[in-house]
Amino acid sequence: MPRRTKIVATIGPASDTPAILADLIGAGMNMARIGLAHGTVEDHLARLGRIRAAAKATGATVGVLADLPGPKVRAAAFPESGTVLTEDELVALAPAARGDTSDGRRIAVEHDNLLVDLRVGDKIALGDGGVELEVESLDGDRAVARVLYGGRLLGSPGVNLPPERFTAEVPTAEDMVLIDAMCDAGVDAIAVSFVRRAEDVAAAKRAAGTGGPMVVAKIETQSAVDDLERIIAESDGVMVARGDLGVRCALEDVPHYQKRIIRVGVAYARPVITATQMLESMVLSPRPTRAEVSDVANAVFDGSSALMLSGETAIGRNPVAAVATMARIAARAEQDFDHNGWGARLGRQQLSESQGADAAIRITTSLSAAAWRAAIEVDAAAIIACTNSGATARAVSRFRPVAPIIAATPSEGTARRLSVAWGIQAIVVARQGSTDDIVWFAVEAAAQQGRVKSGDVVAVLVGSPIEPAPTTDVLRLVRVR
Ligand code: PGA
Ligand code: MN
Repeated sequence: MPRRTKIVATIGPASDTPAILADLIGAGMNMARIGLAHGTVEDHLARLGRIRAAAKATGATVGVLADLPGPKVRAAAFPESGTVLTEDELVALAPAARGDTSDGRRIAVEHDNLLVDLRVGDKIALGDGGVELEVESLDGDRAVARVLYGGRLLGSPGVNLPPERFTAEVPTAEDMVLIDAMCDAGVDAIAVSFVRRAEDVAAAKRAAGTGGPMVVAKIETQSAVDDLERIIAESDGVMVARGDLGVRCALEDVPHYQKRIIRVGVAYARPVITATQMLESMVLSPRPTRAEVSDVANAVFDGSSALMLSGETAIGRNPVAAVATMARIAARAEQDFDHNGWGARLGRQQLSESQGADAAIRITTSLSAAAWRAAIEVDAAAIIACTNSGATARAVSRFRPVAPIIAATPSEGTARRLSVAWGIQAIVVARQGSTDDIVWFAVEAAAQQGRVKSGDVVAVLVGSPIEPAPTTDVLRLVRVR
C-alpha cells in the first residue's frame, strides 16, 4: 500500500532543477512548497512552472503550496562582514530612519510603530530565529533588549516582532497582491503566515475566491492557538508551524500544541501539516539524529496528514536524501499506527459535533462514518470516495481507516489538492450523469489502475448528481467484477 502520511518539501536553490525535482517526486514528495518571502513574482512563477513540468514528466500528482510572507519586518543592513551578538549583552532597538544602518549596539528596525507595539518582556527573533532578544526596557526613542541567544547577523535580517500586537493586517497588502498572482497562476494551496484569528483566514479566503486554492492557516502565534477551533473551521488546512510557534510560545508547549492542532484539524477533516526542523541536521549531514527520527515517527502517531521539510530540501546538501529518509521513517511508523483507536475516538467526537450542523454536513458525516465502519466489517480492499471538491474523501480520511482511500474525481485540481490529505490516492475519472454510472466507472478505474482486483469488496461513497446541493448520500458495498 502507498504511504499514508504525505510529504511536503520546500523548493529552493538546492532543489530547483528539473532533474532534482523529478528525483524529489520519485523519493516521495507529494506537495511542493514555494516560499514567497524572497524573490519576485516572476521567480515564483518560474519555479511553479518547473514543478509542474517535473510532475508532468514523472506522471505524478503533485500539489503546489505557495507560502505568503505575512507581516515581515526587517532590520536596516548590518556591516558587510556581519555583526556577532553575544549572549547576555544589551542592544538597543529603534525605528529606522531613512538610509539608517544597524550595528552591534543599535538595531534599526524598519517599522515606524516599533516603540508603540513593543512591550517589556517581548521576545524578538532575528533572522531565521537563531538569534533571540528579550525587551528589558522602553523609553521615548528606543527599546533596550538583552541577547538570549547570540549569533551572527548578516545583511537585512527579518525581525520577528510579536505578530498579535501588530498594527499591520494579516494578510498584509503585499500578501493580497501575491494571493491574486498565485491564484491566477493556478497554485493548489496558499498558506497564510502569522494568522491571529479566524477573520484573518476569512480575508484570505475571500481574496482566493470560491473554487480557488485551499487556504492553509499557519498556526505560529499564541493568539492563533487561543482561537484554534474558529480558525480551523474557517480554513481548508492547517500547519503546525513549529519554527515561529517555538519563538512565540513556551518551547515546552509546542509538542502539546502540535497534538491539539492535529486532533482538532483532523476532527474537522482538514489536512494538518506538521512542519519545521523535522530533519534539520540533514541540511548539512547525510544522516538525521535519533531525536529527529523519533520526532518524525511521533508526528505520524499524532495523526499528521503531512510532514514538511524546509531548509532540508530548500538549501540542504542533499534534498533527495532528506525526502527519502522522511518517507522511510513515516512508512515504518505507519506499520504501528493505531487506526482503529483513532477512528473510534473520532466517531464519538463526530456524532456530538455534527448535531445542530446543517443537513448536508450531517448526512456526509454520518455516511462517511458508516463507510468507515462497513469497510472494517466487510474487510474492504478500499474505500472509494466519488468526489468533486474532495470533501467526501477528506471526511473519510479523518477516520484514518486501515483500507486505502481512493478519491475518484473528475477534477485535476481536486486530485492535486488531495495530495496533502492523509491516505488519499486520487484518480481522475470522466464526469458521469447518474449515481449508478459514477459508481460503476469509479470501481472500473480503480481496477484498471490495479488498486483493487476482481473479487475484492469495496465501499463506495457517492452523491446524487441531481441534488440541488452536492451531498454524499449513498453508500454502496460493491464486489469488483
Ligand atoms: P516559515 O513557517 O518556515 O515560513 O517560517 C513555518 C514555521 O514557522 O515553522
Ligand atoms: Mn513561520
